Amino acid sequence: MKKNILSFIILTAVFGLFLIAPSCTKSPVSKAPNRALIITGQNNHNWKGSTPVLKQILENSGLFSVDIAQTPATGKDMSKFKPDFTKYQVVVLDYNGDSWPEETKKGFEAYVSGGGGVVVYHAADNSFPDWKEYNKIIGLGGWGDRNEKDGPYVRWRNDSIVRDTYAGRAGSHGPQHAFQVTIRDTTHPITKGLPKIWMHSQDELYSELRGPAENLTILATAFADTAKKGTGQHEPMLMTVTYGKGRIFHTALGHAGDAPYEAMECVGFIVTTQRGAEWAATGVVTQEIPEVFPTFNVLSKWPLFRTLTLPEILSNLKDYKPGDTRYNLQDLTNYIRANYDGGEKYAKVEKSLLEFLKGTGSVDTKNYILKELSVFGTDQALPILKELLTKEETAEMARYAIERITGQFTN
Ligand code: ZN
Repeated sequence: MKKNILSFIILTAVFGLFLIAPSCTKSPVSKAPNRALIITGQNNHNWKGSTPVLKQILENSGLFSVDIAQTPATGKDMSKFKPDFTKYQVVVLDYNGDSWPEETKKGFEAYVSGGGGVVVYHAADNSFPDWKEYNKIIGLGGWGDRNEKDGPYVRWRNDSIVRDTYAGRAGSHGPQHAFQVTIRDTTHPITKGLPKIWMHSQDELYSELRGPAENLTILATAFADTAKKGTGQHEPMLMTVTYGKGRIFHTALGHAGDAPYEAMECVGFIVTTQRGAEWAATGVVTQEIPEVFPTFNVLSKWPLFRTLTLPEILSNLKDYKPGDTRYNLQDLTNYIRANYDGGEKYAKVEKSLLEFLKGTGSVDTKNYILKELSVFGTDQALPILKELLTKEETAEMARYAIERITGQFTN
C-alpha cells in the first residue's frame, strides 16, 4: 500500500510537470492525428501511383492517419460504395469516375455542409459534371462536357478575381512544363509565409476551369503562357471554397502519369497539399515552411516526398563524381544549413560528416564536405582534417578548411 501511495505521489509529480510545462511554451498543438480518407479507384490518371503518394505526403506531415476508400472499377456495381465520411476530419478526392450511389452523394454533401474538410486534388475537378452540389464543393471544374451552363471561367486580372461568362468549353492544358506559381492571397493560413512566386516542377497547367465558383477564394495562380500553348491568362492553381460549414482546399496541381511523379515531387506541391489538408481539417495551419521550398526560379524536389535524413543524403553521395546530378550535393548543403545551430544539433551533423571523411566514399564528395566545413566546421573537425592534409587528393581542400576554422593562414 505504501508503495502504491509513493507511486501515486511520483506519478502526480511527473504528470503535474507535464500539465504545467506546455502552458509555458507557445500554443500547445495536439499531436492526436486527424483522420483523413482518400477516395480513389477510378481516374483518367494513374491513381494507383498518386494515391499512395498522397497518403505518404499526408502522413509525413505527422498530422494525419490516412485510410483509403477504393471504389469498384469502372462500370462495376457501385451500390455498396458507402464510406462513413463522418469518421474523418478531411476527405481527399483522388477520384474521377462513375457516379456514386445517391445515398453516398447525400452523405458526402451532409458531411461537407456540416463542417467536414475536403481536399480536391487535380483531376478530381474533372469528376461528376452532372452532380450540382459536388460542383459547388469543388468550385471550378473541367472537361466532362462542362461549358457556360456550368458557370463562369475564373481568372486573375489587375490584382483581383474575374468571372468571365462567355461561352466555351471547360478545361484545357498545353504540354507539361515547369512553371511559376504566384501567391495571390498572402494572408491565408495555407499560403502565409510562402515565397510570393515559386517555380513548380513539370506539370499540366490546368486552364479554362469553370464552375459555380461560389464562396471561392483564389490563393495562387499560374500564367498559362501562349508560348506553351496556354490561354495567356493567369489561371487559378490553389483555391479554397466554403460550403455550409465545410472547408475545401482545391489544388489543380500534381498531375500523375507514369512514375516518377515529377509534379508531386515538387516541395511546393507537397507543402501546399499538407497545409491545405490541415486547414481543411482544422481551420488552422501549424506547419513550418521548409528552407528548401522552391524559389522564384529554382525548383526543389523531394523524390521520397519528404526531406531526406543525413544518412540517406550521404548514401546518395557515396559514389558521386563530377557530371552526376548536383541535386544530391545541394541536399547536403541544405541539410547542413537547416541544422546549423552553432551547438549540439550541428555537432551531431558534423560528426556524421567526419565519419564520411574517414570512410571509403567518393573523393569528390569528400572535397565538397571539406568546402562546407571551411564555412561551418569547428575544432571537433581538426584531427580528421589534419589526416586528410596528408593525402594528395584531399590535401588542398583540407588545408583550406583548416585555415578557415582556425583563422591561421599558412601563406
Ligand atoms: Zn493531369
